[in-house]
Amino acid sequence: MTKMSKITDFLDGVNVIGMAGHIRPDGDCVGSCLGLYTYLKNNFPDKEIDLYLEEIPDKFDNLKYASEIINDTSADKHYDLFITLDASDLERIGGAVKYFNNADKTLCIDHHVSNKGFADTNIIEPESSSACETLFFLLDEDKINVDVATDLYLGIIHDSGVFKYSCTSLRTMTTAGKLMEKGIPFTDIIDDTFYTKTYVQNQIMGRALMESVLFYEGQCIFSVVKSDEFEFYNITSKDLDGIVEQLRITKGVEVAIFLYQTNELEYKISLRSKNKVDVSAIASYFGGGGHVRAAGCTMHGTVYDVINNISERLALQLD
Ligand code: 5GP
Ligand code: MN
Repeated sequence: MTKMSKITDFLDGVNVIGMAGHIRPDGDCVGSCLGLYTYLKNNFPDKEIDLYLEEIPDKFDNLKYASEIINDTSADKHYDLFITLDASDLERIGGAVKYFNNADKTLCIDHHVSNKGFADTNIIEPESSSACETLFFLLDEDKINVDVATDLYLGIIHDSGVFKYSCTSLRTMTTAGKLMEKGIPFTDIIDDTFYTKTYVQNQIMGRALMESVLFYEGQCIFSVVKSDEFEFYNITSKDLDGIVEQLRITKGVEVAIFLYQTNELEYKISLRSKNKVDVSAIASYFGGGGHVRAAGCTMHGTVYDVINNISERLALQLD
């Protein structure tokens, strides 16, 4: 499939469309899913469209049609076309996989280097900043309204770290510029969804930073949030955004590792690197995936086991 294809190429004879993004939805996932959902509703009002996502972070609740997102995948339904966005493999779409498997046609729109292409048609651009940037080129620019532009801009700023990560390109900036011209509230999108933290979110970040540990002569840093802290602060994993990024910008650090406990001996791992370490390779080794500078996986054992196992893989890439 060439990059010149458009979303309309996939809509012939299609009346009922299902969509899903990845579990634990982040800004790019929510932005790309709601962006395409809103675009299709605006321009193809006769089609029936369902969007499946796990519960989204509160900060995205004000986006157009956020209230129409379906969290429950227990109902049976058949789709003429099922579209995945920002999901690097089928396990990542959670319970919606049953709709994908039963659909007549499937389409995957993504930008993860680890994505092997699991749909009938796969539009995967590993060099793209975000699923939202890739999606932009599948849409007719004239038919993008301010709501769709808001969603796409939001996804781009989240996955590019407000245009600073190495995934940011000339195309990222020109795409963002075109979206700004649609009249979006770009300052508010950045402040309200990227930088603003609630009081407890600041508290847990402060605690994670205070207890962080440097190793490999300051080239690596890790921190962990355990289950009892979730209870103490009355928070969920959605309140931990930004912690790994703050660890990453510790002076001298190449790799930041952030863990949070998901079960007795189970941790969700976020990995970030600055210049040279390919963290996608490490996450993939442990069954996860992601990008060269930002990746993740789930690991089992004690914190000590997890850090030891990651350290062995890190040593292969560090001087
Ligand atoms: P985060 O650390 O923000 O959760 O994720 C960073 C990047 O790694 C994201 O692009 C995300 O999609 C990917 N990622 C995180 N966890 C996993 C995982 O368990 N499996 C896969 N395949 N990718 C992951
Ligand atoms: Mn993404």
